[in-house]
Amino acid sequence: MHNAAYQALRMDRVYLAFHVTSQNFRAAIHALPALGILGVNLTVPHKEAAARMLKHLNAEAKLLRAVNCIINDRGELRGDNTDARGLESDLRALGVELRSRFAIVIGAGGAAVSAILACSRMGAARVVIANRTRARAANLARRFQSPHSSRRIELVPRGLEALTDADLLADAALVLNATSMGLTTTEFAPLDYAATPSECFFYDLIYRAEPTPFLREAIALGRPHADGAGMLINQGELAFELFNHVAPPEGVMRQALLERLSRIR
Ligand code: NAP
Repeated sequence: MHNAAYQALRMDRVYLAFHVTSQNFRAAIHALPALGILGVNLTVPHKEAAARMLKHLNAEAKLLRAVNCIINDRGELRGDNTDARGLESDLRALGVELRSRFAIVIGAGGAAVSAILACSRMGAARVVIANRTRARAANLARRFQSPHSSRRIELVPRGLEALTDADLLADAALVLNATSMGLTTTEFAPLDYAATPSECFFYDLIYRAEPTPFLREAIALGRPHADGAGMLINQGELAFELFNHVAPPEGVMRQALLERLSRIR
């Protein structure tokens, strides 16, 4: 995606993948200014470690306690997180309406926090956090609703049994998968898809060429749905601008990613 934008802008820059172990993470990040690298994206398992290590975090990275973008600002390393903004703009572009509505976020890891922030910014009144480890969902709800928080959103921690609670599902405007179920597994947890209203939107943060295990039944029932390719594209475009101080040309990064996934959405 990034290299397609560099080519389109005729910029003599390149985006490369580095495989960095946890053991080498600190040394790799400290080397960025010396190497003249403009910025990096981070993925599992480095996002939380970066938030603990960097002195300069913007408000969003602080709230999420995770960094997916480090910007080399003339030798000073600044941490940002573009996941929530990337997801919010994809949900809006897809026509998902959450104002005063109710959403179910499945998962309580880093991606789930971004999803809750996006739901909160879209005006959701209530989010049920359904997670395998209920205590983790409860911790997340507490952290998000600290007395210092200005967000007015009700967060309800539940276990995965919430996904078969027909009364709960009957009111959902959005059911979003922010777990890694379906990434390495071929099955998703039991979920009563038919109990959701016909306009309920199903969104999977996982993206791949074929429908994900979470989305298969939603598609079969004709529910509106999308996978996380749009979020990935949006957070990539935001990162490109942070690294290069110029926006990528409209649609170029999207086209490159969808071509790689062998589909046009
Ligand atoms: P994480 O912090 O490791 O959290 C993983 C979550 O998945 C936890 O809630 C965990 O539950 C749950 N989980 C894992 N295996 C499970 C299983 N077998 N059964 C039930 N629950 C299970 O990971 P993350 O960073 O939040 O990422 C989550 C997903 O979002 C990943 O698939 C990632 O690829 C995707 N993502 C996509 C984008 C994008 O741009 N589209 C951006 C960020 C992340 P427990 O708490 O019980 O362990």
